[in-house]
Amino acid sequence: MTQSYDAIIIGAGISGAAIAYELSKKGYRTVNVEKLDAAGYGSTANTCAIIRTHYSTLDGTALAYDGYFYWKKWGEYIGNTDEMGLAKFYDVGFLVIKPESFDLSKYIQLHDELNIPYEIWDREKLLQRMPHFVDDSFYPPKRPEDPNFNAPPTGKINSTIIFFPCGGYINDATLSVHNLQRAAESKGATFVFNAEVRAITKDGGRIAGVTLQDGQQMNAPVVVNAAGPHSFVINQLAGIADKMKIKTRPLRHEVHFVPSPPEFSYEERGLMVSDGDAGGYHRPEAGNMILVGSEDPACDTLDWIEDPDKFNRNVTTEQWNAQVYRIAKRIPNLPIPGRPKGIADLYDVTDDWIPIYDRSDLPGFYLAIGTTGNQYKNGPVIGQLLCEIIEACENGHDHDKDPVQVKLRNIDFTLNTGIFSRNREIITGSSFSVLG
Ligand SMILES: Cc1cc2nc3c(=O)[nH]c(=O)nc-3n(C[C@H](O)[C@H](O)[C@H](O)COP(=O)(O)OP(=O)(O)OC[C@H]3O[C@@H](n4cnc5c(N)ncnc54)[C@H](O)[C@@H]3O)c2cc1C
Repeated sequence: MTQSYDAIIIGAGISGAAIAYELSKKGYRTVNVEKLDAAGYGSTANTCAIIRTHYSTLDGTALAYDGYFYWKKWGEYIGNTDEMGLAKFYDVGFLVIKPESFDLSKYIQLHDELNIPYEIWDREKLLQRMPHFVDDSFYPPKRPEDPNFNAPPTGKINSTIIFFPCGGYINDATLSVHNLQRAAESKGATFVFNAEVRAITKDGGRIAGVTLQDGQQMNAPVVVNAAGPHSFVINQLAGIADKMKIKTRPLRHEVHFVPSPPEFSYEERGLMVSDGDAGGYHRPEAGNMILVGSEDPACDTLDWIEDPDKFNRNVTTEQWNAQVYRIAKRIPNLPIPGRPKGIADLYDVTDDWIPIYDRSDLPGFYLAIGTTGNQYKNGPVIGQLLCEIIEACENGHDHDKDPVQVKLRNIDFTLNTGIFSRNREIITGSSFSVLG
């Protein structure tokens, strides 16, 4: 039987669910088609869900600051429609530590431009607030197998340390997507699970719909690719993969969990920490644990994945040692369990590590892809961007020539969505890393 909708959204992660909510608020009859059992079970399930504002570009910073306010007022945004309760935002603040050689003035300038609060700390203040840290520099980060891994410190960390009070993390990312699902359903949206898109159908040079694994056909004049690390697969099905300058591909990443040091409870006093000197980040995790992630220092090899359905979901001893031992240099008393504990999942990375929020060369087919390991925080804003791009294009606007300008809702900033074009030149101001 063929079902018809106003918009089909492929994927029910944070991006797809937010797009469904925004479109259904505008009266679109949407369906999210998700191959897994429930919403938020894809890469969003394993996100570190860090909310921060320091990005390398003005637009990236503005997007993240606007996103911060959605999480601050999550219940208001969602409308408290979920019987499972709401995801919780721990607004603990975000600390940025860099090596001496790193110029922090760009972050300061971008935050000044957008009136985002921050505090400048020195090393003394850092050690007062985080007494379990040392302020030595170990730059550049190394792998444990490097003979110099245990060499004495190379000096001190950058004497400028920035604390961003507008930052934190969400306790349960999957629940946040369920919240969006329920909010969207309350506006008439449909979610279909265990439903895999196997083909994209076209009619007269336009998108017509999708075909599922059981042969079921769904039709709509609008289809959105929000398939996360499978984005390139869906683009190939749509026949547009070779018609965009910027490409996406999956990158495997590990995140590890270790206990808090005995003298400092992350549960009670932990902050988010990006430690560029040590090549990683960490944050409080439930059960007085610390979640440890990597910022991909140059000594690590990036683990690009050919097939997003076939990758090692177990953490490896090699990467556990690298990430955990590096953070242990900052936290000398860090308890390190004998057995690695953590998760492995995929980023959907673009050529310049900036996402793609755009139309495509196939009329009616839209892209919310390339979220590059750092766009969970922007989920609700992605919903707004895609909704406005879709409305404009479906009303005949030439978005490629004259990119849609979106007035963000929570801050005084109008975003030129052309920055997220599939056909942009590589954005050289990007960090070319998960930092965006
Ligand atoms: C380890 C890790 C840590 C991260 N940490 C952070 C962080 O701290 N802060 C931050 O902001 N971001 C972070 N990110 C990035 C963030 O998680 C992603 O940007 C975001 O979750 C992507 O959401 P999505 O909805 O686009 O993709 P997904 O959540 O992957 O959703 C896509 C969905 O599409 C479905 N799908 C795929 N193909 C098909 C098909 N053919 N048919 C039907 N359904 C299909 C999938 O099953 C999946 O559920 C992290 C990512 C990872 C992997």
